[in-house]
Amino acid sequence: MSLKYKCPECGTPLGFEGLCWRCRAKHHREEVNNWTDEEIQKKINQVIERLKTSKEDEFYKTDECDIFQDLMTRGVDIKEISKVACEREIYYPSELYYKASEEIRDTIIEKIMSTKSADDGGRFLQCLAMIGDKKSQDTLYELKINPRPWRKKLYVDSDIYAEEGGWTFDSKNNYIKLNYDKCFSFEIGEKKDENGTFIARRRGEKCPHCGGEMLDILVIDGRDERFSFLGLDGITTVSCCPNCVTLCEGISTKFKLDGTSEVLDYEGEEENYFSEDIIDEMINNKFVVSVKEKPLFYGAFGDDVSTIGGFASWVQDWEYRVSRVWKENEIPCSNSLGYYNGFSRRNFIYRNLPKL
Ligand SMILES: [Zn+2]
Ligand SMILES: [Zn+2]
Repeated sequence: MSLKYKCPECGTPLGFEGLCWRCRAKHHREEVNNWTDEEIQKKINQVIERLKTSKEDEFYKTDECDIFQDLMTRGVDIKEISKVACEREIYYPSELYYKASEEIRDTIIEKIMSTKSADDGGRFLQCLAMIGDKKSQDTLYELKINPRPWRKKLYVDSDIYAEEGGWTFDSKNNYIKLNYDKCFSFEIGEKKDENGTFIARRRGEKCPHCGGEMLDILVIDGRDERFSFLGLDGITTVSCCPNCVTLCEGISTKFKLDGTSEVLDYEGEEENYFSEDIIDEMINNKFVVSVKEKPLFYGAFGDDVSTIGGFASWVQDWEYRVSRVWKENEIPCSNSLGYYNGFSRRNFIYRNLPKL
């Protein structure tokens, strides 16, 4: 079946006239990246005005919520926004409370301790996760040890809620950082460059389950100054079967810092949906690492960019995969339908495969 239209910019066949989603997303991001300080202030004011007239369950549906997320990708100060959100009792999306003030934190803690509703409780837990300071941690720890009656109606404990903020704690309330406080994105460069850090090359092996082409889906050169924050003094190669990884729980790679890697056993699929053409398209991408550092939420609200570090974009709820033998350099790689995932301490994952 052939589609009637083509994206005028990239030629992707489309069922409608106009730009494809990818080109539209690209233009939108360029626009946001080019907002001046003055425009940013205007946008902040616009978000605040909307918060002032919104009810709790309405804000996330508004254009201003999208603008708020765009502002987050620029790493702007949202203290004023958090303040108005708290006054208006709007708790969703939880990013409204990212690193909010002590005063706001105390208000949320008060509410969490007095609420009888599991829905509200869950929302407050997420806001505290985003605030993420020591007192937020102590409160979440306290709630884990001495749960409120509404805890029974939630699926997971408060330490899992903390993960939304990019951190958690152990049974002794030791702080565990999950996200990196630095972020670089992949951008389209001049040509494919298999030196340094890059995405996808043929591994020269076939998948034992589907017979498909195995790929080194991400190679990171930890000796690159930009990635010193990863603490990996060498080359890390993350490998998988791109067909099976989208359909199974994940594939783990054991790597050595000399760049070699070994794919560990995984449950694969019999059917291979990846033609040679698709593999070629993945291999022949032109992604290069951004020269400049990006704000931590740069890749958190969409699947048009991939990042190493920062906050991930989750399709459903956040999920950090734990490597079984992390200390021995094992990397879990997973990819749900081609687009979720982050690259974090525990979740050593490449976010956003090139469009499948
Ligand atoms: Zn296009
Ligand atoms: Zn496979």
